[in-house]
Amino acid sequence: MQVSENSNDDFLFIDDSDEDEILDDASVGTWKILIVDDDPEIHSVTQLALSDLTVLGRNLEYLHAYSGADACKIIAQHQDIVVVLLDVVMETDDAGLKVVKYIREELKRQDIRIVLRTGQPGYAPEESVIKDYDINDYKTKTELTRRKLVTTVYAAIRSYQQIETVNKSRHGLEKIISASSELLEKQTVHGYAAGVLEQLNHLIGNVNTSVFCARGQGILTDVDDLSFYILGQTGLSAILVDQKVATLKNETATQMINNCYARKSHDLSGDNITLYLANGSYRAIVYMELAEPLSEITKQLVEVFLANVAVGYENVHLFHKLRDAAYKDILTDLPNRLAFLQLLDKFSRSKDNNLVAALVDINHFSDINDGLGQDIGNQLLIAVSKRLKTIGDSVQVTRIGADVFGLIGSADFVNPENLITLFDFPFEAGEQHLPLSACFGFCTKQEAGAEGKKVLNQINIALNLAKKDRQNHVVYYEQEMEDKTLWRLGMIRQLRTDFADNRLELWYQPQLNLASGKVIGAEALLRWRTAEGNFISPAVFIPLAEYSGLIVEIGDWVIEQACLQIKSLEQQGFNEVAISVNVSIPQFRRGNFVQSIIDKVKQHKVKPQKLELEITENILMDDPQIVIDALVKLKQEGLRIALDDFGTGYSSLSYLQQLPLDRLKVDRAFVTNIAKPGQAVIANTIINLGKQMQLNVIAEGIEEESQQVHLKAQGCDDVQGFFYAKPMPADEFVQYLKTHNSD
Ligand code: C2E
Ligand code: MG
Ligand code: MG
Repeated sequence: MQVSENSNDDFLFIDDSDEDEILDDASVGTWKILIVDDDPEIHSVTQLALSDLTVLGRNLEYLHAYSGADACKIIAQHQDIVVVLLDVVMETDDAGLKVVKYIREELKRQDIRIVLRTGQPGYAPEESVIKDYDINDYKTKTELTRRKLVTTVYAAIRSYQQIETVNKSRHGLEKIISASSELLEKQTVHGYAAGVLEQLNHLIGNVNTSVFCARGQGILTDVDDLSFYILGQTGLSAILVDQKVATLKNETATQMINNCYARKSHDLSGDNITLYLANGSYRAIVYMELAEPLSEITKQLVEVFLANVAVGYENVHLFHKLRDAAYKDILTDLPNRLAFLQLLDKFSRSKDNNLVAALVDINHFSDINDGLGQDIGNQLLIAVSKRLKTIGDSVQVTRIGADVFGLIGSADFVNPENLITLFDFPFEAGEQHLPLSACFGFCTKQEAGAEGKKVLNQINIALNLAKKDRQNHVVYYEQEMEDKTLWRLGMIRQLRTDFADNRLELWYQPQLNLASGKVIGAEALLRWRTAEGNFISPAVFIPLAEYSGLIVEIGDWVIEQACLQIKSLEQQGFNEVAISVNVSIPQFRRGNFVQSIIDKVKQHKVKPQKLELEITENILMDDPQIVIDALVKLKQEGLRIALDDFGTGYSSLSYLQQLPLDRLKVDRAFVTNIAKPGQAVIANTIINLGKQMQLNVIAEGIEEESQQVHLKAQGCDDVQGFFYAKPMPADEFVQYLKTHNSD
């Protein structure tokens, strides 16, 4: 007998000529048939009729029930019953129909095929029952000849199998849907590739190896060629992710992947298959080696799956682009601050003790930007970023702020020498070649804290110190710096409260004329007596006051005190005594500095000649013009200007010449050894320079008579030092004047 099937409606025809040929040869598993009838005779007849029948490669196996209730029990126990041959009338007229209801409604088994049989030719169940309960067939028992029975059972089993297939593909589709949404959430191309392979392996089963690959360029960072790279793999012994497909050393694979890419379609025939994944401009190939070729239904499922997940592939790349945007600096294409922090995280966890992280801050970049325009500024930054990258291939270069770059790499590359050399030549910006300088902060791996943020803070501390250091623009972070910072902050806080609580005092150190021996003035010097009664040296707290800006308020107070002191001395008959006050650069930076002094002098009706401002040469380093302009105005008002600590700074003589000076102060450093042979050269030179510039010269720090003798011989005008008097409170100074200046 020939079994043929019509693929359109899956109808089965059995050729009557030879029934026995329905017996297929192979037998894998069985089809379980449940015969339900209260008549034992029917059981044996049916079994006999169907004996030796093999359907779709499997034999039949029989279960027997003799009542409706019996049948229900057996069906509930056996999940694998495929066909029920069911008598309608048994213990009751509708016992069979109850079994039908039980199968479909209670057990919710829609797949089991049911063939109703009745002994009474006149009795037929209502059509609605047949429809609603999906009854396969309805036969009177007399109709069931052997042939008819075989055909009926065969058709029922086929139908069961089709339902099963549909169910399977439905499960497959459900898998696809959940896989797609899962894959949509994958954020890395590697995660996505692994996910796709996992799902495909799941869907197909029996996969020996699989490889997910794509062209490297634009997909893998730092890969710039068009060869195929492996992004995901299963079933391979070696891990080849991020390697070229060529490393598989599998000719068939290479060939099939290339063909698939060129053809832009899947090849699902045979044991080795290729799948083509494309969405937008992103394309990938999956190559798989299977244990057996795909069944039709699996092919369809695979296609549906790929169509669904391709969207995810593009998403992964778009996501990457977004990520790039968040971690990349657009102007220079370098990793940005966020990325630098992550790299520093890695740096701090690294075991490589030779690593160094550094910050490079371009000096005066905002001046260039303001002066030459943003375009030139941008081009310079790009030029700097390119030059920084030449320091070493393995060095990571990032841009973390407008003109600040972050570097991480081996100390062999990232070191002061190499970095400073990079700034030896001018940088190109359009037509221009501009020289640039920079400050550098370093942090070695040994000193690095436990996380990126901490390390950034550490290099920042070093960088800030490098910026403040006038000569050496390179500083390596050390733990001490942080301790110092904390100490500094504490001191500043205390100074602020103590100043507010009037704990600062102004003391006076007499200045004498060498020729007359008379006191001609005094230098006002700050004293800080803490609540505990300790004196803190101005050499310690003045730099802190300058650093914090507190010096502006304190400086105002000093000038006020000096004016009051001048007035008080006048009232006590000391008309010729001038007061010198020290001023710092932050005071000049405040817009109304000049006016505030003039106002004070007028307010207290002080003769301006009696107030002298002492400035140090270093005050000229940052903004010489601001200082020169201010001093010129003050000098016009009649105030006197002295250059303090002369000879210890670095200012150029050309600036010095522009200063409206009245007096030069020879620093103590040149006075200390002045009486020793050969040590007087500098002091002598300063005194001579002062004379030639027609300035008054005062030497400070005189502690011994021999020094005084020498200074007098050189023609120094005035002196100040412990040899005469130490700085003292105002009332003591008045006493001092009384003993020294009254004839
Ligand atoms: P300076 O302006 O050079 O002041 C002279 C310093 O030399 C004073 O130190 C004074 O006590 C010290 N000195 C004077 N004669 C001798 C001597 O014979 N031997 C030795 N060993 N030292 C002598 P002081 O009072 O500790 O002040 C230190 C610095 O603090 C001052 O140096 C000045 O730069 C700054 N300073 C003090 N008061 C003020 C202020 O009101 N405003 C500003 N901006 N700075 C101030
Ligand atoms: Mg001074
Ligand atoms: Mg001095």
